[in-house]
Amino acid sequence: LLSSVALAPRDPILGLNEAFAADPRPDKVNLGVGVYRDAQGRLPLLRSVREAEQRLVGEAQPRGYLPIDGLAAYDKAVQALLFGEQAAVLAAGRVVTAQSVGGTSALKIGADFLKRTLPAARVAISDPSWENHRAIFESAGFEVGVYPYYDAATHGVNFAGMLDGLRALHVGDIVVLHACCHNPTGVDLDGAQWAQVIEVLRERELVPFLDMAYQGFGEGNEGDAAVVRMFADSGLAVFVANSFSKSFSLYGERVGALSVVTADADEAERVRSQLKRVIRADYSNPPTHGAMLVSTVLNTPELRALWEEDLGDMRDRIRSMRRGLVARIAAHGDPRDFSFIVRQRGMFSYSGLNAEQVERLREEFGIYAVSSGRICVAALNDANLDAVATAIAAVSA
Ligand code: PMP
Repeated sequence: LLSSVALAPRDPILGLNEAFAADPRPDKVNLGVGVYRDAQGRLPLLRSVREAEQRLVGEAQPRGYLPIDGLAAYDKAVQALLFGEQAAVLAAGRVVTAQSVGGTSALKIGADFLKRTLPAARVAISDPSWENHRAIFESAGFEVGVYPYYDAATHGVNFAGMLDGLRALHVGDIVVLHACCHNPTGVDLDGAQWAQVIEVLRERELVPFLDMAYQGFGEGNEGDAAVVRMFADSGLAVFVANSFSKSFSLYGERVGALSVVTADADEAERVRSQLKRVIRADYSNPPTHGAMLVSTVLNTPELRALWEEDLGDMRDRIRSMRRGLVARIAAHGDPRDFSFIVRQRGMFSYSGLNAEQVERLREEFGIYAVSSGRICVAALNDANLDAVATAIAAVSA
């Protein structure tokens, strides 16, 4: 039986981690995986999370099963964060939110639900996109294609190409969109462009599925949620997967949610019943701890203020590393203009380096990046910035 099982390819990014761990060079730098590190290169434990954890231990609750769609206080806090405390869609009971096992399972629950609801639809993801988007929607049984997105020549969005690509899709197709801090490029649409995308989706009767894994890392919680709110106000049925892995530095706790904006409260309840069916057959009900932490922070004003401050510090630090990297590359006499790195948002930058240059970074300098040229700017700090800039200037000369 098992003798015919083929070896699956290694995950390229996690494979990079293994190679990094095995590298004996003391000054090696891992810019591969999408994890925020602080100025000392450590994975942070946020003050708000530490405090919430202490409070929870003090209260020592027994651990029963959560409802299939998760902790109610958590789901409600997620809705307010995404759609706004006073949102009309929330007051009308039009939004269904189910706690999920990180952003990944929010996408998978949505994908499984959509496959049952729209079995003939196809899925379009951005070119390029987070690699798992393809895997998740294919594993739900969809054919997955791409719409044009990144323009290497301008280090920006090929917006005309994107709109044409969307117009060429079939009625009812599903479009996966990065709400902010596009992974892997760091290049986002502006408000006017989002409005045009919404119009094309409406004309072509396409289904938007927003993925927001980096809320707070672009403009801040409110600014980044503006895209979600534009979609919610559009009158379209909208799917939103969100994650707290990065914004709470709670990667291993697996905290996320799927929200669906429906036409009315009755439709919302019907959708909820079907989402619960999907979840029940998948992992039955979600884990307690991470959602309790996030819900405690979001629902306790002083912890929430601490969290907003920590999130702001993470965002500001990444921005300052972007500026630092560009300035130092220029200081090495590199005549090319890397200022696009400052305009990109979130944890990542498409550096413009090709696979061969990325390989040289690793071989000659012990600097690990994804072969596409994606670097995690959130892994830079004052101690490694100069080495990274020197290496980038050297391999791209
Ligand atoms: N979407 C995107 C675009 C991501 O980058 C990530 C995390 N790498 C996720 C979803 C999934 O996040 P989580 O770790 O919470 O499953």
